[in-house]
Amino acid sequence: MRLAVLKERLAGEGRVAATPDSVKKLTALGLTVAIETKAGLTAAISDEDFAAAGAEIAATPQAALEGAKILFAVQAPGPDIRALLPAGTLLVCTMNTFGDPTLVPALAEAGIDGVAMELLPRITRAQSMDVLSSQANLSGYRAVIEAAGAFARGFPMMMTAAGTVPPARVLVIGAGVAGLQAIATARRLGGIVSGTDVRPAAKEEIKSLGAIYVGVEDEETAKQTGAYATQMSDAFRQKQADLMATTVAKNDIIICTALVQGRKAPVIVTSEMVASMKPGSVIIDLAADSGGNCAATKPGEDYVTDNGVRILGHRNWPSRIAVAASQLYARNLVTFLTTFWDKDAKAPNLKETDDIIKGVTLTRGGHIVHPNFAPKPAEPAPPPPPEPTPAPPTAGPPDLIAPDPETIDTTPAEITPPTEPETPAQ
Ligand code: NAD
Repeated sequence: MRLAVLKERLAGEGRVAATPDSVKKLTALGLTVAIETKAGLTAAISDEDFAAAGAEIAATPQAALEGAKILFAVQAPGPDIRALLPAGTLLVCTMNTFGDPTLVPALAEAGIDGVAMELLPRITRAQSMDVLSSQANLSGYRAVIEAAGAFARGFPMMMTAAGTVPPARVLVIGAGVAGLQAIATARRLGGIVSGTDVRPAAKEEIKSLGAIYVGVEDEETAKQTGAYATQMSDAFRQKQADLMATTVAKNDIIICTALVQGRKAPVIVTSEMVASMKPGSVIIDLAADSGGNCAATKPGEDYVTDNGVRILGHRNWPSRIAVAASQLYARNLVTFLTTFWDKDAKAPNLKETDDIIKGVTLTRGGHIVHPNFAPKPAEPAPPPPPEPTPAPPTAGPPDLIAPDPETIDTTPAEITPPTEPETPAQ
């Protein structure tokens, strides 16, 4: 069976879905791996490196895809590439399903079996395939490195004969995978670091990294026990805004990482808070792709506000550390395929009953199979108009009286998609 990897075509995407190491593992499964020429250049992998690992180098996407049954990618390919995929192709990548509502129906129509790696359930068994975690981890590191480059004073306290340079004060908003890595990196550089989150589990994690916890704790945060935070109420947001109004101004660097799955990122740093910061301060908004945690972020831009605060709102942070991000991403994909590989048939066996497969499979055999994207059930037909009321019987038992159609409940029961029952990992 042939597996193809193409050059990523989305502007600004520097990652690649395979590395020489992953090519070796894929060929060991019995696959032939075809890589489009120059696919790895932005991730520092040459065609020669891929060829030495056993890959076939193809001059064009058409040549790479010729006879391929599986396509590995970082971003979902656009219509031009999708048009080259025959029905039955297994496409494994990140899909931006919430950003592009046309994608899933288009995959079903083309008969492409689409696997969206970002929808992987957060269960222990899936950890080694978790592309969101591997990429967020590197983004958190990169955010601090870029903050250090943009901040013209340095992170650690420096005591010199000419005087003392104070340490940078760093606030990390959102202490998930990216935020915790940002905290650890900022601490290693010598900053005074604090962190905030809405999940109670995050409080201990922030403190265990030697950072200061700041945050609102109430009955609403007590319920945030899942791996993903949910959208918070207006009342909570007001309390958080009151706290942030005094906290943000005291910090030199703000690293924003707060996300709510499938929704626009919460705005936590308002324009007034930015206006209260000292000139030379830096805001790094890792949530820029989802709108940003800072109201003043301009997604995709790096600019300085009127009061001298530099805001880096780059999109696609993992691509800014493309070599390491490609290594971990490619490893995630290999682990996924290996887990669902039929050694005898030398082919994938994506068991429909498996929780991981149920979580990531968008389309199969020309149908949308993921409950979050399946077409809504058709509206029920309106109830028939009431029959003209017959003249009341002069006598007779009450059970012969026809029920009043107005009182019959014709509302369909609400369908709730199945949830993952497995134990979440920490
Ligand atoms: P994420 O990227 O969805 O969100 C980042 C952080 O922002 C989260 O910690 C979230 O609580 C926080 N946040 C959301 N709204 C906020 C708000 N209004 N104010 C402040 N903070 C807010 O989350 P993530 O980093 O991908 O993962 C979160 C957690 O999931 C991890 O810390 C880990 O415990 C768990 N996890 C488990 C697995 C697994 O078991 N396979 C894999 C990855 C992560």
